[in-house]
Amino acid sequence: LDNVPSDIEIAVAQTPKPVVDVASEMGLIPDEVESYGKYKAKVELSVLDRLKERKDAKYIVVAGINPTPLGEGKSTTTIGLAQALGAELNKTAIACVRQPSQGPTFGVKGGAAGGGYSQVIPMTEFNLHLTGDIHAVTAANNLLAAALDARMFHESQQSDKGLFSRLCPPKKGVKTFAPPMLRRLQRLGINKTKPEELTPEEITKFARLDVDPATVTWNRVIDTNDRYLRKITVGQAPTEAGVTRETAFDIAVGSEVMAVLALATDLADLRERLGKMVVGTSRSGDPVTADDVGCAGAMAVLMKDAIKPTLMQTLEGTPVFVHAGPFANIAHGNSSIIADRIALKLAGTEEGDDADRAGYVITEAGFGADIGMEKFCNIKCRVSGLKPNAVVIVATVRALKMHGGGPPVTPGKPLADVYQQENLELLEKGCANLGKHIENAKKYGLKVVVAVNQFSADSPAELQLVQDYSLANGADYAVPSNHWAKGGKGAVSLAEAVIKACEGESQFKFLYDLDKSLEEKIRIIATEMYGADGIELSEEARKQIETYTRQGFGNLPICMAKTALSLSDDPSKKGVPTGFTLPINRVRLSAGANFVYPLVGDMSTMPGLTTRPGFYDIDLDPETGDITGLF
Ligand code: ADP
Repeated sequence: LDNVPSDIEIAVAQTPKPVVDVASEMGLIPDEVESYGKYKAKVELSVLDRLKERKDAKYIVVAGINPTPLGEGKSTTTIGLAQALGAELNKTAIACVRQPSQGPTFGVKGGAAGGGYSQVIPMTEFNLHLTGDIHAVTAANNLLAAALDARMFHESQQSDKGLFSRLCPPKKGVKTFAPPMLRRLQRLGINKTKPEELTPEEITKFARLDVDPATVTWNRVIDTNDRYLRKITVGQAPTEAGVTRETAFDIAVGSEVMAVLALATDLADLRERLGKMVVGTSRSGDPVTADDVGCAGAMAVLMKDAIKPTLMQTLEGTPVFVHAGPFANIAHGNSSIIADRIALKLAGTEEGDDADRAGYVITEAGFGADIGMEKFCNIKCRVSGLKPNAVVIVATVRALKMHGGGPPVTPGKPLADVYQQENLELLEKGCANLGKHIENAKKYGLKVVVAVNQFSADSPAELQLVQDYSLANGADYAVPSNHWAKGGKGAVSLAEAVIKACEGESQFKFLYDLDKSLEEKIRIIATEMYGADGIELSEEARKQIETYTRQGFGNLPICMAKTALSLSDDPSKKGVPTGFTLPINRVRLSAGANFVYPLVGDMSTMPGLTTRPGFYDIDLDPETGDITGLF
C-alpha cells in the first residue's frame, strides 16, 4: 500500500484498448458507436430499442458516509468493484459515473477518475473536455440567458404591435404561426392558428413576456471556479440603453440544463424538459419558461450529442459510461438515467439465458448517502422506473475516526497521529455515522454492502471493528477492499459480497409518496434520513411552498440542497448529530428537472479558487505533449 505511484503515473502507464474493441466486447454493433478519437466513443440511444426485450442486469448504487477532507473513495470503489466483477470474476460489469467539472479539477479536489489501480482511463481526457458535453450544457444554458436579456431589452424599446410584427413577420404563402409561437399560444390558452385572428389584448399577452427583472432566476454558467462572477451587472454598454440588471454566473454543472440531461429518458423528453424550465416570473405573476422565450428547440439542438453517453474503460479494460455531472446540492448529484439504462440492457439477459448470466451495473451517487443515495432513490429511480438491488456504502477507517471526534485536517500540515495509528476508541465512536447510513439504506428495501476502502495505516483490528459494527447494525455484508493498491484483485471479496447481495428480486421502495404535501415530504427526508427532530420553514420558504403548490408543482419530488459534510445542516457536526431542527431558508423550483429544491442554509453555486489551487501543478511536457500534475 505504501509504494503505489501517483494516479496520473499509473493511468498513463497503461495503454487502453481501442474503444471500438471495448464496444464490440460488450455487444454494441458498429452503427451504435461513434468514436471520438481512439479511446472514447459516444453510444447511440438506438441500442435501447434494439435490446428492449432483454431483462435488465443487476443494479448497484455506490454511496458513502458523510464526506470528510480525508476522502472516502466512492469513485475509486465504483471502478475497483467493476474491475473485480469484470476482469477477475469474469462477469459482465459496467460502471456508470459522472463527468467531473473542470472547476474542481483545477481547484482543490483534483480529478474524479478514481485513484490508484482503480481508475477510468485515459484519465486526462476523462477529467478535461471529454466529449464536450459540459461545453454543450454551457452553450445551451447561455443561449437561454442571452435570449432572455435580449428579449427584455427589445420589449423595453418596442410597442406591442412592433414586437408582434417582428416575432411573427408575414411570410409569403405562409398564413399560420410557426411551431414555437404555437407552443406559447397554447400555454396562454389562446386557441388560434393565424396571426390576423388575434385581438389587440391577445397580441399584448402573446408578444410581451413582461418578465419582472427582479424575479429572473436564470444565471449564466461557466465551468471554471470563478468567484468574481458570483455577482455581476449586465447591460452596461451604451447600446443597451440603460437596461442593466444584477445577475450571476453559476458553475456549469450546477445548471438546471445539466440536471435535465441527467434525468432525461430520451430526446423527446429532453426537449420537453428544456422547454418547461422556468427563467423568471412575469409582472402578472406567471412563470416564464424557455419555451416562452422561444429557444428550447435550439437548446435541444445544442444538446443532441450530449444526450449520448460516452464509453471509456477502466485500467483493466472494463467498460465505463461517463455521462452528465449534476451538482449534488441544488441538483440530484447522480449520473444519467440514459447511461444506466443502456448499461442495464447491455449487461442484461435474453429470454432463456441462465439467471446467473446476469451482469452488474455499478452506478455512483455523489456526496454522502444521506444526499446522493436519497436522491438516487427518490428522484432518479422514480423517473427511470428502475429498481436497484443493492447499495455499497463506502467508508474509510480514517474518515470514521474524524466522525468519532478526530481533529480537523489543516492543509499543508501532517495528518494527526490518530489518523496514522490504531485508535479503536475513536473509530468505534465514528462508526455511528456509518450505522445511520446503513439504517437509512434499509428504508429503501436495499441490500447493504459496506466497503471499507483500505488505507495503508489501517490496522487489522480496525478493519475488523468496522466490519463487526456494520454487521451488528444491519448491513448484509461488510468487507475491507484493497482495490486502490491492487486494482480488481483487491476488490474480489467486495465483488463476491455484491453478487450475493444481488440474489433474488429487488425489494426496492421509495421513502415518500409524491401525493404528500411539499412540506411533509421535506419533513420526512429531514427526520428519516438526517435524524432531525423536525423542520423550520422561514416565512419566505412557506410562501414559496404555497406558490408552487398553487401553480401545480406540489406533487414533485424534493431535492434537498444541504451540506454534505454532516447529517445535519451544520458542517462542523460530525458523527450522528441529534436534537436539531432543520432550517429551510428558501425553496426553489426546477420545473424542467421536475423537482423542488429547499435550501438548507446558504449554498454557493459558484466555487472559488484558493491561493494555491491545483492548476499550479498542471503542465505539458513540451517534448511529448504529455500532461503532468493532474491528480
Ligand atoms: P470520492 O469519490 O469519494 O470523492 P475518490 O474515489 O475520487 O473519492 O478518491 C479521492 C482521492 O483519494 C483520489 O485521489 C484517490 O486516489 C484517493 N484514494 C482513494 N482511495 C484511496 C486509498 N485506499 N488509499 C489512498 N488513497 C486513496
